[in-house]
Amino acid sequence: MKILFLGVGEAFDENQPNNSHLIITDKTKLLLDCGYSVPQQLWRFNKDPNFLDAIYISHQHADHYFGVPAVLMRMWEGGTGRSRPLTIISEKGFKNQFEKLMDLAYFGFKDKFKFEIKIVEVEEGQDIDFQDLRLSFNKTIHSGENLAVKVNDGKNIMAYSGDGSPVQGTDFYKNLDLLILETYLYNQEKIGHSSVVSGIKFAEGNNVKTLALTHLNRDFRKNDLPKVRDEIKSDKVKIIIPEPLDEYSL
Ligand SMILES: [Zn+2]
Repeated sequence: MKILFLGVGEAFDENQPNNSHLIITDKTKLLLDCGYSVPQQLWRFNKDPNFLDAIYISHQHADHYFGVPAVLMRMWEGGTGRSRPLTIISEKGFKNQFEKLMDLAYFGFKDKFKFEIKIVEVEEGQDIDFQDLRLSFNKTIHSGENLAVKVNDGKNIMAYSGDGSPVQGTDFYKNLDLLILETYLYNQEKIGHSSVVSGIKFAEGNNVKTLALTHLNRDFRKNDLPKVRDEIKSDKVKIIIPEPLDEYSL
């Protein structure tokens, strides 16, 4: 499994695209979240309209799914558009929101697409198989209903929190090879977000091998992160703070 960090920013960072990551295995390309500044990152990486197999949307905040209409429109338009189905996986109620979003963004165009869009609605505690991947879901504590996703390709297991701090005391995050965790401030808890310090503690307690810190507050990332970067470490967990388009292999 290879991870490409397309964007690592919070919602309103002028320098960083929204939090979004590509999972790449031999058989599958799965995009995790697709906020409004993500389509350009995806196209910088790969322009092929048939490239993606599926998109996972963690929750219905604009910085996590308002990029979907543009991604679908570019798959359709142009001479050799997409031909094969695309799956979109998200929480209950997504299908209805998706229809509204497409109508607002590009009214009537979805009916012209030459490819099928399969919406799969999931809930906490459910496991689904998608190609060579098994996906599981767990709620986080956030200002909207958000489902973290765990991805198992049979060799490695990673999880992506989406937004929100993870719920303590579950087995969901135990022994992960990689946890991509949204964090916001350094050591202050803000409701609905992890901090760098609490995130590291959480990863240590769950025997996570590598922790990727993303979604850092824009001012913290720009002004304070360089000063405290050396203090962000752990004896037990490897910690990375990726930049957009960085790759990480498991
Ligand atoms: Zn959110």
